[in-house]
Amino acid sequence: MIGVSRKKSAIKIGVLALQGAFERHQKVFQKLGFDAVQVRTPADLAKVDAFVMPGGESTTMSQLLESSELFDPIGRRIKNGMPVFGTCAGMILLSKKILDGREDQLSFEAIDIDVQRNAYGRQIDSFEAEIEIDSLDSSFHAVFIRAPRIVSLGSEVHALAYCGDDVVLAQQDNVMVASFHPELANDVRLHELFLRGV
Ligand code: GLN
Repeated sequence: MIGVSRKKSAIKIGVLALQGAFERHQKVFQKLGFDAVQVRTPADLAKVDAFVMPGGESTTMSQLLESSELFDPIGRRIKNGMPVFGTCAGMILLSKKILDGREDQLSFEAIDIDVQRNAYGRQIDSFEAEIEIDSLDSSFHAVFIRAPRIVSLGSEVHALAYCGDDVVLAQQDNVMVASFHPELANDVRLHELFLRGV
């Protein structure tokens, strides 16, 4: 648990900043009063208490995670319990199995879900929906952009929100994932929930 006994400003949240939609995540945490920093190197990673992997392009991020030598240290931190929130491409990177990925695409296998990339078809490549999230008292505006679909969940994984029949927010231990972009909603509640819940 973080955030219980420490001042908000003393908690450092790292946002993976190799590619994709990292800036808006950083701004949401800053708005909440946390020290949020961009992570590009193992030295940056060593300073953070919790971590966000943003949306973007998971195949590119996978390559950059290797070339930046961040892949192994991130994997170790997650195993050691660092809270991590993966959104969209970030969810793909955290999942146990990727369908329709590139053959050489890496994942941390940190949450027991199978995800299918770009699974919502061409016509609805991007769409928005109001979803109900357990423990939030009103709906949340979810923006899906070429989103991955969770096609199966292991028994240890908690489904926290659905869109239609699909689980779109899930958690297992210190790992939370969303198939949408919560940083685009102008709503800080999901980022708060991440810091409370993991
Ligand atoms: N389609 C992207 C991928 O496979 C994810 C899209 C996103 O993060 N908005 O990596």
